[in-house]
Amino acid sequence: MKLRSLCDINVQNKRVFMRVDYNVSLDSNSSIADDIRITQTLPTINYLLDHGAGIALASHLGRPAGSVDNKYSLKIVADRLGIYLDRKIRLIPDYWNNELSVDPGKIVMLENLRFHKGEEENDFALAKHISAYFDLFVNDAFGSSHRAHMSIVGISKYLKSCAGLLLEKEISLIDGLLNNKGGSLVVVIGGAKTPEKIGVIDNLLGKADTILLGGAVANTFLSTWGIKTGISLVDHEMIEMARQIMWKATQTSAKLVLPEDVIVSNQKQTRKPVELSYSQVPGHLAIYDIGKKTRKKYTDEIVSADSVIWNGPMGLFEKPQFKAGTDSIMQAMVKSKGITVIGGGDTLSALSNKGQLKDITHVSTGGGALLEYLEKESLPGINIVTQS
Ligand code: ADP
Ligand code: MG
Repeated sequence: MKLRSLCDINVQNKRVFMRVDYNVSLDSNSSIADDIRITQTLPTINYLLDHGAGIALASHLGRPAGSVDNKYSLKIVADRLGIYLDRKIRLIPDYWNNELSVDPGKIVMLENLRFHKGEEENDFALAKHISAYFDLFVNDAFGSSHRAHMSIVGISKYLKSCAGLLLEKEISLIDGLLNNKGGSLVVVIGGAKTPEKIGVIDNLLGKADTILLGGAVANTFLSTWGIKTGISLVDHEMIEMARQIMWKATQTSAKLVLPEDVIVSNQKQTRKPVELSYSQVPGHLAIYDIGKKTRKKYTDEIVSADSVIWNGPMGLFEKPQFKAGTDSIMQAMVKSKGITVIGGGDTLSALSNKGQLKDITHVSTGGGALLEYLEKESLPGINIVTQS
């Protein structure tokens, strides 16, 4: 996929509408828990400012349901960005009913796009209104590019559009891995959202060398295989598709690997966790993590691969007694000398030591978007900045 690059465009004195994904995670007192989504956009912002453009940043935050809800104001994000850029970032509250102006070398931020219904409805009238104040649309929001929303798709109908540096970096890295430019590829899939991940496994069977499964996704595949999984979380609606994928796996060179041992406990997880073979799970217990042998096997696969993509925790990591599997994957990713990519909301929040992220080649800004891209290798927000 060859994207229209920002670097090929003269941005001097251009007014740029830049879509970013500042949908940062907030902690219990509504302050920013993790600002990596902000810091990752700094290269594009600095490039534009250094080359004489004026920028209006636009993002959504949370799910305010189409009307103003100050709980989801981007003010804290504008303030945090201001610290990194060492300047005050003016937040524009109502861009629908007011004129917008951005001078060269200046930067402003629009208030939460989802304060207007038109954002999620891909309202062309709103897109047209906004686009009248700009010369160029830069999409740097990989994490939102799976949505055909106004600030992604609508706006591109009225403005020349290109990819920001972060989006370009993310897509060229992932494309490279999927097209074997990074050597052998191991993919680790865990977590609970089997419907979102099963299509990824399907597509990657033709691309990866090895797919390692954990979490509730693995439970569904074990159950499909006829293994008794007790009261484990299994997505029964996905069984048929899992069956087809297991059949496909026998026809391709990729290895699809399931846990060989597991950690089990009772429904309320009050019982001391026990390690068992995958085939010995009693009817009244559930699988909550991968076992030691599986951790070792998965670690060996990850460490010896040229490239690794990981999405989804290996177990119910929210309980410390079921976190070891997920921790072991992260340690293996850190140890790996290959290219490593991590994505997924819960995957990132499961990491006990965020400092380890510096040893990962790329922390994807997209959870849902990454999965959809790994499945379809195209997204609405990527298509609009693809060279034809
Ligand atoms: P991500 O956001 O990283 O893509 P998901 O949203 O798919 O991941 O899944 C994360 C959730 O999966 C976590 O809340 C975790 O507790 C749950 N999970 C993982 N393995 C199991 C399991 N064996 N049983 C129950 N829940 C699990
Ligand atoms: Mg999740």
